[in-house]
Amino acid sequence: MNQVIFSDLKDQKILVTGASRGIGHAIAHHLAAQGAYVLFNYRSDENKARELEASLKKAGASNAKGLLFDVTDFAKMKEAVDTTCNEIGPITGLVNNAGISKDTLLLRLKQEELGNILDTNLKSAIMLTSYLSRYMMKAPQSSIVNISSVVGLMGNTAQTAYAASKAGLIGATKSIAKEMAAKNVRCNAVCPGFIETDMTNQLDDKVKEMYLSRIPLKRLGSTQEVANLVSFLLSQASGYMTGEILKIDGGLYI
Ligand code: NDP
Repeated sequence: MNQVIFSDLKDQKILVTGASRGIGHAIAHHLAAQGAYVLFNYRSDENKARELEASLKKAGASNAKGLLFDVTDFAKMKEAVDTTCNEIGPITGLVNNAGISKDTLLLRLKQEELGNILDTNLKSAIMLTSYLSRYMMKAPQSSIVNISSVVGLMGNTAQTAYAASKAGLIGATKSIAKEMAAKNVRCNAVCPGFIETDMTNQLDDKVKEMYLSRIPLKRLGSTQEVANLVSFLLSQASGYMTGEILKIDGGLYI
C-alpha cells in the first residue's frame, strides 16, 4: 500500500492515542516515516512503550516519546500533557484514536458498559483536546483529527453505545473547529468503515461476509489507507479544511 508523504510534518510534535495496535499503530508509524516527533500514550507496559519508541525512531521519527496515561484517567492525562509541553514545547498535532467497541443489544446494555464506552471514545478525546488546546493556541498552527466511525453517521444494530460515542465525536469536532479557528487550530474527523484490525478480526465470519456484501469496493480497508488520510488532515496540505467529517469506507455509507 502506498504511503503518501507530507514534507511539512517533519519535526512536528504529534500525539497519537491508542498507537499500540491497529489504526493508531499505522498512523504513528506513517508519521514517523515523514520525520515527525511522534508522541503516544500507553497504559502500563513500560517495556512495550520503549519498544514502540525504538520502532518509531527506526521508521524515521525525529524523536518518539511514550506518555503514561489511560485515556479514561483525566487527571493523569492532564499531568502528562502539562509536563510534556513544558518540557518540549507545544504539541501541534493530535490524533484522538484510542477506542473500544462492544456489541450489545439495547435490551442487554448495562449502564457501566455505556459509561465505559463514552469515557473511552468520547470524553477522553474532548478532555485531551481541551488540555492540549492552551498549548496549541500558542503555536502558529495546529491540527486535530478525531477518529470517529461510519457507525456514528448511520447507526448500527447492537452498537447504540458505540454509535452514540462516535456521533458525539462528530458534534465535538464541529464545535472545536468553530471555537478554535480564530487561534489557527483546525479540527476534522475521519469516519472509517471496516478496517482490518483486532477490532474487526473479532467479528465472526458470517458477520464479516454480510458487511463485505454491503461494501461497493468489496474489501475491508487497510490501516495505511486511514493513515494516509490522517496525515493529509494533519498537514498544511489541508490548511483550508476544518470541521470536515470524512468517510473512508469503500462506499459502505453512500
Ligand atoms: P484496536 O482495538 O486495534 O486498538 C485500540 C487502541 O486503543 C489500542 O492501542 C488500545 O490500547 C487503545 N485503548 C483502548 N482503550 C484505551 C484506554 N482506556 N486508554 C488508553 N488506550 C486505550 O482498534 P482499531 O485500531 O480498530 O480502532 C482505532 C480507532 O478507530 C477506534 O477509535 C475505533 O473506534 C475506530 N474505528 C475502527 C474501525 C475498524 O474497522 N477497525 C472502524 C471505524 C472506527 P491497548 O493496547 O492498551 O489496549
